[in-house]
Amino acid sequence: MDSHVGEVDIFQQCKYIHEVELVNMKLQMRILETHIETKDRLLRNLEDIIDEQESRIANMEDFIQGRATTYTNRSNMLRGISVLSLDFGTLSEENLRLKSALSQMQKVARVNEILETDEDYESDMTSNEDRFALSRDSSCSVPRSVSPQPTGDVIKPYPQMVQSMREEGQWKKLQRCAEELKNEKDELRRLAVDTKDAFNVCMAEMNMLLTSKTTDFFRVLIERYKAEMEKRKQLHNQLVELNGNIRVFYRIRPQLASESDNQKPVVVIDEMDNGVVHVSNTSGSRKTSAGADKVIPTGFSQEQIFNEVSPIITSCIDGYNVCIFAYGHTGSGKTYTMDGPVELPGINQRAIMQLFETAKERTGDIKYDIKVAMMEIYNEKIRDLLNTSNTNLTIRQTEEGKGSIPGLEEVTVSSAQEVTETLARGRKNKAVAATEANIESSRSHVIVRVLVSATNLITKVTTVGRLNLVDLAGSERVSQTNATGQLLKEAQAINKSLSELGNVVLALRQNQKHIPFRNCQLTRILEDSLNGDSKTLVIVHLSPDSKSLNESISSVNFAEKIGQVFTKSGTMKREPVRRSMTGVSSGQRREIPPSPRK
Ligand code: ADP
Ligand code: MG
Repeated sequence: MDSHVGEVDIFQQCKYIHEVELVNMKLQMRILETHIETKDRLLRNLEDIIDEQESRIANMEDFIQGRATTYTNRSNMLRGISVLSLDFGTLSEENLRLKSALSQMQKVARVNEILETDEDYESDMTSNEDRFALSRDSSCSVPRSVSPQPTGDVIKPYPQMVQSMREEGQWKKLQRCAEELKNEKDELRRLAVDTKDAFNVCMAEMNMLLTSKTTDFFRVLIERYKAEMEKRKQLHNQLVELNGNIRVFYRIRPQLASESDNQKPVVVIDEMDNGVVHVSNTSGSRKTSAGADKVIPTGFSQEQIFNEVSPIITSCIDGYNVCIFAYGHTGSGKTYTMDGPVELPGINQRAIMQLFETAKERTGDIKYDIKVAMMEIYNEKIRDLLNTSNTNLTIRQTEEGKGSIPGLEEVTVSSAQEVTETLARGRKNKAVAATEANIESSRSHVIVRVLVSATNLITKVTTVGRLNLVDLAGSERVSQTNATGQLLKEAQAINKSLSELGNVVLALRQNQKHIPFRNCQLTRILEDSLNGDSKTLVIVHLSPDSKSLNESISSVNFAEKIGQVFTKSGTMKREPVRRSMTGVSSGQRREIPPSPRK
C-alpha cells in the first residue's frame, strides 16, 4: 500500500517536472527563434551595407578611373571591404550555429511531445529526464551561452530549480489531495443523506407493516377473547339461575364537578372484561374485583340503566318476587339510581311505568291491579312514607305472606301521573321526617314496594307479584363517621342491617338450608320477596372520588362476598317454585307445583 503511494508520488513529480521543462524548452525555443530572426535582419542589413559599399566602390573605381585617383586610397577602401566581408562571414557562421541549435531544440521538443502522449508515462519519464539531462550535456544541445536569459532575473541552478519545482509540486499535490478529499466528503455527505432518506422510508414501511400485522393480530385475539367471554357469561348466567337468580351489578358514578381536582378516578372499569373493576389508590396499589355479574359503564344514562334491569322487573308480572337493592356509601349515587332527579327519573318511576305498559299489553282475560307503598327503616323502626300518621308499624305473618306490614298505606295507581305524585309524596315525607329527627336522609333504608295483582277474569284466581325497590342507607363504617350517641346507634343499626342483608343474600346464593331473615327488620320485610321464586339484583355503587377510596374498597368486598357462585354438588339446594299468573287461587300464593331445577 505504502509502496504504491510512493510510486504514485514519483509519478506525479515526474509528470510535473516534465511539464515544467517542456514549457521551459518551448520558451527557450521561442527566444532562439526571435534571436535568429534578429540575426537574420542584421545579416540582411549587413548584406545591404556590403552591397551599398560595393556599389560605392564601383562608383569610386569609376571615379578613380575617370579622375585619376591615387593607388593608396583605392587599396585602403579594398581593406575596409575585406574587413566587412570577414564580419559578414562571422555572422553567417553564428547564424548557422543558431540554426543548428534551433533544429536540435525542435527535435527535443518533438520527442517530449511524443512522450507526453505515451501511456506508459511513468517508465518513460525517468528516461525522458535522463534524455533531457543528456541533451543538456550533449554538444548538440542549446549552448548555455546562446540561451537568452531575461535581464535582471536570478537564474537558479538546475538541481535547485528541480527541487523547488518538486516542493511546489508537493504543495500542489497536497492541494489536489485536499480537493479530492473535499469532493469525497461531499460525496459521502450526499450518500449519507440518501442513506438516511432510504432508511426513513424503510422504517416507515416496516412500521406500517408492523402496525397492520399487530392490529390484525390483536383484532383476532380480542375477537376470540370476546367470544370466550360471551361463553363464560352464558355459563355464569346459567349458574346464577341455578343458584337462585341473584345478580350483582356495579355502577360507578361519574366524577362530580366538585371532585374535579385533576385526580385520576380511583375506580375504573376493565376495558376488556365487563364484570371487572379496578380500585387503585394514588400510590399505585390496586384491587381488582370480578365479583359482579356486570359493570354498568359510567356514561350510561338513567334510561340505559333501566334497560339493563327491566327484564327482571317484567318478571314481576309473571309471578316472581323481585328485589332491587342500591348498595353503597353516602354520596355514591344510590338515590340517583333509584329515585333520580325529577328530569331524569330513576328505576322506581320507570319500573312502575313499565309494569303499566306490560299490564296494558296483556289485558284480555287478566285484570291487573298495581299498588304502591313506601316505607323507611330508620334505627330498626318502620315508617310509612305515604301516611305519616301511621306509626308503630310491625311485620307480621299474614295470609299475604311473611313480610306483611298491616296498616301500611298502599296506593292504587292507574296512570303515570299518579305514580309520579305518589313517589313525590313519599320523597317529601321522608325529607320532613329526616329534618324533624335531625338526621341525614341517607341514614335510612327506603323501600318502594309495588304490588302487582293479576286476576284471571275467567277463573277468578288472583296472584300477587312483589317488586321491592330498596335505596339502602349509606354503608360507611362507624369508625369513619366518629359517631357518638344517636349517631352511633344509627350507624350500628345500619351496619347490622347491611351485614345481615349480605348474609341473607350469600346464604340464598349458596342455597343454604337456613337463611337468617329474622336478624333485622330489613331482611324480615323482604323475606317473602327474597325467598322462593324470586329474582334479586344488588347494584353496588362506587364513587370514583379518591376521598371515598376506603368506602369503595369495602363496597367491592361486599359485592365479592354476595357475588360468589357456588357449584358444589354437595351444597343444599332450595327447591324454588316457579309460578305462572294462572292457576293460583285468590288469597293464596305459590300453588303451582315446582319446576325442579337441574
Ligand atoms: P347516595 O344516595 O348514595 O348518598 P346520591 O344519589 O345522593 O348518593 O348522589 C350523590 C351526588 O352524586 C348527587 O349530587 C347526585 O346528583 C350525583 N350523582 C350520583 N350518581 C350520578 C350519576 N350517575 N350521574 C350524575 N350525577 C350523579
Ligand atoms: Mg341517598
